[in-house]
Amino acid sequence: MTCKWYGVCPLRRYETEGRIGLVWAEKYCKSDDGWMECERYKLEERSIYHPDNMLPDGTLDETLG
Ligand code: SF4
Repeated sequence: MTCKWYGVCPLRRYETEGRIGLVWAEKYCKSDDGWMECERYKLEERSIYHPDNMLPDGTLDETLG
């Protein structure tokens, strides 16, 4: 099952722009249950702010804005 935030996640824009690879989507967003381990997902569930440049493993990519 794909993450429920797939369509609105800022990672899609970064993918389209070629700024990140598809590896994140494959490992997290589009995997059966990998999205449950996504730090973005976990924060969203708790309504805690997280910047657009936070990757699913919780690291901040300063090249993204
Ligand atoms: S980055 Fe996280 S919150 Fe965004 S679509 Fe992927 S799994 Fe869902």
